[in-house]
Amino acid sequence: MYQIECDTHTHTLYSRHAYSTIEENIRAAGEAGLRLLASTDHFSDMLFDDYKSLKNYQYFLCTGNWPRVWNGVTLLSGCEADIVDMEGHLFGHDIAVTKSTIGDTYDPERNLQEMVFSKMDFVSASVQAKRHTEGQSVAANTQMYIKALENPKVFFIGHIGRAGVPFELDEVIKRAKELNKPIEINEHSFFWEGYHQTVCRDVAVRCAEIGTQICVNTDAHMSIEVGKTSKAQAMLEEISFPQELIVNRTKDSFLEGLRISGVNTKL
Ligand SMILES: [Zn+2]
Ligand SMILES: [Zn+2]
Repeated sequence: MYQIECDTHTHTLYSRHAYSTIEENIRAAGEAGLRLLASTDHFSDMLFDDYKSLKNYQYFLCTGNWPRVWNGVTLLSGCEADIVDMEGHLFGHDIAVTKSTIGDTYDPERNLQEMVFSKMDFVSASVQAKRHTEGQSVAANTQMYIKALENPKVFFIGHIGRAGVPFELDEVIKRAKELNKPIEINEHSFFWEGYHQTVCRDVAVRCAEIGTQICVNTDAHMSIEVGKTSKAQAMLEEISFPQELIVNRTKDSFLEGLRISGVNTKL
């Protein structure tokens, strides 16, 4: 088994199809022996019909109230933002905010993504709805992922192996290395037998060969999943993936990774 002290892709009740509170996730993280938990709920139009209203994002805007260390576990605030177009833009980039949460007018208007991202320790970017990728070439998909990864707030792409969007592995993995950003290996992708498991394995093999770091996360949607990455680790063991390329092997290595990438130099 690998040493993995951090789970940096987890969800709470806020995500609507997840079932635990932040406190339950923190408690589970402590019980699983983790030293760092990042809570990364969906930042996406899938959550609310009224997805342009700032009222629906108070959860993110107030994460500054969270304790930095809770129950002995360092807690980071993040979000999993949808990649919404082929330019790699993330949800909220084109949403103007004209009213505060209590209904006061913003003049000039503000930008939803800027308001939320400014409160996040880091962001992950994922393809959820795939409509914008339909009929697109592998080369275009590859550029979409690279542009999303180049976003200064984004540390990694979420579940790139199971999104079902074909891309050139080496191009994305090499660009990630240049940016000092990891590729996520996501435990949820191993819940179902199938093609995406092969993709995840291929991604890990090429990361090891190229020397790109990976981040092994649960994508927990319930507290009982937090910190449990046995399926992903079994695959990594099978290919003898080097421990030193796992960015979240320790709390310090993950925070160092955020610093070196420039995503967050304040932690
Ligand atoms: Zn989800
Ligand atoms: Zn997720």
